Amino acid sequence: MYEVIATPFLEDFLVMRPGKSGGFKIPFHRYQELRDTAGDRPCPEWLAAATRKAWGVELSGRSADAVLVREPSSYGYARASYELNLGCNYDCPFCYLGKKEFEGLDWEGRETLLGVMRDAGVVWLQLTGGEPLIDPLFRETYGRAYELGMMLQISSNGSRLHDERNLNLLTQYRPYRITVSVYGATEETYDRTTRRRGTWRQFRRGLAAAREAGLPLRLNVVVVDDNAHELDQMKALADELEAEHFVYSNISPTIHGGPEALSSQSDEHLRARKPFTGCNAGITHFHADPFGLASICKVGRDEQIDLVAEGVEGLAQLPPIADKLMLRTGGCSGCALQDKCGTCRPLAKRYQEANAPLVSYCQHGRR
Ligand code: SF4
Ligand code: SF4
Repeated sequence: MYEVIATPFLEDFLVMRPGKSGGFKIPFHRYQELRDTAGDRPCPEWLAAATRKAWGVELSGRSADAVLVREPSSYGYARASYELNLGCNYDCPFCYLGKKEFEGLDWEGRETLLGVMRDAGVVWLQLTGGEPLIDPLFRETYGRAYELGMMLQISSNGSRLHDERNLNLLTQYRPYRITVSVYGATEETYDRTTRRRGTWRQFRRGLAAAREAGLPLRLNVVVVDDNAHELDQMKALADELEAEHFVYSNISPTIHGGPEALSSQSDEHLRARKPFTGCNAGITHFHADPFGLASICKVGRDEQIDLVAEGVEGLAQLPPIADKLMLRTGGCSGCALQDKCGTCRPLAKRYQEANAPLVSYCQHGRR
């Protein structure tokens, strides 16, 4: 297996190491040299010196197989997220997925989808769910994406991180990040918030095992009505694990525009969003659902492309879809406050479909 990846990234060329979030730029002629250096030929000395300095990785005398060179792609997608399966072992009432069915692509479909992602230029891939670690093909899917030269991030509730098969995989083929959601800081609150008894213990076991294995953890502290009183303790948990953390306290409607998640909102913790100045959804990143249907992002799923049936060529349809979905149409048409609005149009549409209180997403509710 390779030690580092050399890849085009937007206008640049990068060398990266799995398990590390950073890398270094190389000029085009160096990238081209690596492309031409295949098989048994040794790694160039300039590369060996650079990887030694960056990560203490010794490539001197190693064959060129230690470098996986990603081919350029005319599609220009650098990032993607892939929801392996919507199924979850928790039953959080605030989940933005709504109904969580255990269904998705078979192995053949997943291989095709991951191949499409590789051909689209995807370097950073987030594997998510539902809970991805309970997906029956999680380890195979992760392994295939790694083999194709993708830098991997997993979003998880952490409850299966202590499973030895997962730990072996993740310590051998390292993700650059594992993002674990936090739903409470005590057993009583955590289990009540997830509506599953025993989840706190599993979560703590998973976190302890991941920390022990030196895996790169980040915590997403999810604040809802049921756990808001433990916010400081949840943050302290991240400090105790020496993990970076982010606090999420604005609850979204479901991806189907359903209102059911919104009743968990802690009104006291509702935060005003910064003005939305645009994003690259559908242009440099996209999302794939459990069936391999691609959308501009996790929220804007109004139009999807079947990547398994259409192949990488199908992605040419995404940029015009993105342009259309970003227009302030529907309930936002003619809004005089749109320049200062913090809610992108795809998200505003979900709130409007859910008949959410204006105060939760729209400036007209705050005046
Ligand atoms: S939800 Fe909105 S801001 Fe986020 S990626 Fe989608 S379009 Fe962009
Ligand atoms: S302020 Fe409200 S109506 Fe105006 S663009 Fe934003 S969400 Fe739409």
